[in-house]
Amino acid sequence: MSAKVLIADDSPLVLRMIEKMLEGAGLRVVTARDGIEAIEKAFVEDVSLVILDVTMPRMNGYQACRLLKSEPNTRGLPVVILTSRDQAGDRFWGLQTGADYYITKDAEPQKILELVKQILSREDASGRPRFSEAQRNSLDIVSRVNELLDRKLYEATILSEIGRVARSLVHFDETFTSVMSLVGRVVDFSVGAMAFVEQEDLDVVLMAQRPVAAPVMEEAKARLLEAIAQHRGGTPFARVQARLFAPRVGGPEETALHGFAAFPITTNARLTGLLALGGKAAGRIPADTDDFLGQVANQAWIVLENSRLFERIRNLSIRDSLTDLFNHRHSIEIVATEFDRVGRYEGGVSVLMLDVDHFKRINDEHGHQAGDVVLRDCARVMREQLRSVDAIGRYGGEEFLTVLPHTTYEEARATAERLRRAIEGHVFRAGAKELRVTVSVGVACYPSESVDSPATLIRQADQALYRAKQAGRNRVA
Ligand code: GH3
Ligand code: MG
Ligand code: MG
Repeated sequence: MSAKVLIADDSPLVLRMIEKMLEGAGLRVVTARDGIEAIEKAFVEDVSLVILDVTMPRMNGYQACRLLKSEPNTRGLPVVILTSRDQAGDRFWGLQTGADYYITKDAEPQKILELVKQILSREDASGRPRFSEAQRNSLDIVSRVNELLDRKLYEATILSEIGRVARSLVHFDETFTSVMSLVGRVVDFSVGAMAFVEQEDLDVVLMAQRPVAAPVMEEAKARLLEAIAQHRGGTPFARVQARLFAPRVGGPEETALHGFAAFPITTNARLTGLLALGGKAAGRIPADTDDFLGQVANQAWIVLENSRLFERIRNLSIRDSLTDLFNHRHSIEIVATEFDRVGRYEGGVSVLMLDVDHFKRINDEHGHQAGDVVLRDCARVMREQLRSVDAIGRYGGEEFLTVLPHTTYEEARATAERLRRAIEGHVFRAGAKELRVTVSVGVACYPSESVDSPATLIRQADQALYRAKQAGRNRVA
């Protein structure tokens, strides 16, 4: 039996002309006068090829094409977009909707016939899914069209929301959790991760949507690394860094991963990222969702990669390279921000000015490099002693400014004492040498008398530090 071709065009003249031509070549033809009718016929007739005019009433050719390409049973059907305009915009939309071929109406009729024959000769319809007789009889075209439109709208909304996240959030952490929760609206997962692949470095960020046992997390990570190795071809990484976001909800711990799915992201045919999803639903993702998740993975990666790069650049401008603490300028900005916050809300803020005692001697006796080690380790020891809301900056050479939000003067003094003791007890290792240092700390808080600006708050801490030094060092004042 000869192949059946569906042609949709709102012009009876064009329809007749193409119909005659194809019938003359021994093909069977089905016609439709608009997009909806075309969809209907594509669903119920056993056609091998669809030719769609662009401008048609009720639903245009691009929309009809998009729907045909979204429906699993018609997705494999070749679609030719037929238009009288040969404009770049048309071509763009034609390709966006997933059309396979594109031909202008003013092409020689012979050319159209050649293209049709060429497609049909190449066409192997054997593997294409079909609607069963029962499905066909129960097909309600309008609700099917609505369903497909809904899904397309939903998909477009998810993708654009991921894009919107990129514009509204500054910090990578927030962007990451927002993007992953959007991914979670497409497919439910227990553990989700995005990997960022650089030449030598692998950066993985994982998050649990629900509490999971540690081995489940480990398994998800292992399978992600496996998936990356598989797509990358075995080149080992010099550095692998993994970060984990804990779930924001409580509940019983999941003790098995169940399913796992990975969506590799490539840029110029090179693996640049990978979205991994683990959980019950991740093990059985339907084909159409799988395709869409590929797009989601790409969009999510672009947004997160930008956020990561932005954060990196921002860090360069606010961090001190030796200690990775905030730099002088940014420390002052944090004091100012906290100062303003106290003005608007409840609670005070305290600052500590901390200076290494006789630091010059360390440099003089053990060398500048040993001095650097002491500074870097002091920063680490301090960070370990403080809460995550506290900010530490390198204010000067061996001088550190710490900002403690929601902290009274008494609490700040206790914190200062804790820092002083931790550093006093720490053994610094510079090469084979073991060094010890002490620090002096000045404390100031706001609100308090005589503090009326961020600058006077810092000056008071500085004056207190001076008193600590005067009183013999290795103490808090
Ligand atoms: P005090 O107890 O009065 O604070 O004495 P001090 O020796 O610590 O104070 P001083 O301000 O005289 O010396 C600070 C030294 O810190 C001088 C400077 O060479 C050194 N320094 C500043 N920045 C760095 C740095 O990045 N690395 C190293 N190794 N030393 C630094
Ligand atoms: Mg000093
Ligand atoms: Mg100093």
